[in-house]
Amino acid sequence: MESKIREVSPGIYQLYLPLPMRPSIVNVYLVRDKDEWALIDTGMHSDDSIATLKACLDEVGCPPSAIRKLICTHHHADHFGASRAHKELTGAEVYLNPLEVARVERMQSSTPMPESIAFFRSHGVPLPESGDGLPAPGRYFGTLYAPILPEHSLHDGESVYIGTRELQVVWTPGHTSGHCCFYFPQDKVFIVGDHLLPKITPHVGVYPGGPDNPLQDFLNSQVKVQKLDVQLVLPAHGAIFTDHRYRAQQIIQHHKYRLQEIQDAAKGRPRNAYEIASDVFDVPKDSPIFHFMAATFETLAHLHLLMYDGKVKRIEEENKVTFAAA
Ligand SMILES: [Zn+2]
Repeated sequence: MESKIREVSPGIYQLYLPLPMRPSIVNVYLVRDKDEWALIDTGMHSDDSIATLKACLDEVGCPPSAIRKLICTHHHADHFGASRAHKELTGAEVYLNPLEVARVERMQSSTPMPESIAFFRSHGVPLPESGDGLPAPGRYFGTLYAPILPEHSLHDGESVYIGTRELQVVWTPGHTSGHCCFYFPQDKVFIVGDHLLPKITPHVGVYPGGPDNPLQDFLNSQVKVQKLDVQLVLPAHGAIFTDHRYRAQQIIQHHKYRLQEIQDAAKGRPRNAYEIASDVFDVPKDSPIFHFMAATFETLAHLHLLMYDGKVKRIEEENKVTFAAA
């Protein structure tokens, strides 16, 4: 097998694990201090991904039992989906932010939640009468998502030690409400999960049971990370890079542009989030409903930020929600 691991900073290794969907690779990271190792994020629970991880551990001479901590950025399948298998393999203790733990069970549900169906309908997503068009999260990922409940909570500003190497937890809500990045002050290395990707922007959406203004949270988190002194950024997808402030500013600009587009799309008659999403995002007509839902959630995140800023108003009539420029 071609090597899927390389040392990117002394004692910090990047591993490329395969994903069965786009993006097609997730980067996870091994961090060592002498005999003690930690794994940051897990990849998805597929045979291919687990075999790749084992081959990487072999190559670098890390016995699985030397991994004492499994520290995850957020609950999504490519970051936390193999946590059960990796825990069994290594015996490591698992760390995750408590807001993420709350989402783990929901992700495994095999039926769509009734409140979700009502939510999608209220925003104009065309679902069949029975709600059958809605993919249940548990069915969408199937066995690719096999999480375990963590024994430790990650909180903003606290430190976790890998041997004597300090990892500082930087809470960066937005992509998910409990997303955390990990800063290594001695090395000025910053593991950023999905928060700060070099080529794409992570999904930020409003969904039932989630925060009401996640895009504001996300933009605040982009400001927050710029306060750190960073020399190397290690993202979950795409190549490593150096200038975290430049990229954070680019991402803020991207959303400012999109906010203006969505504010413009809300002028004239009141429109629902699905209609606005269809205008603003190029989702091909024959795409699975999941893609339209993602575009609708993302549009809602922008509409809610505009609403909190007093630029659009939300109108609710007979279980139908529309937005209009204020
Ligand atoms: Zn994610």
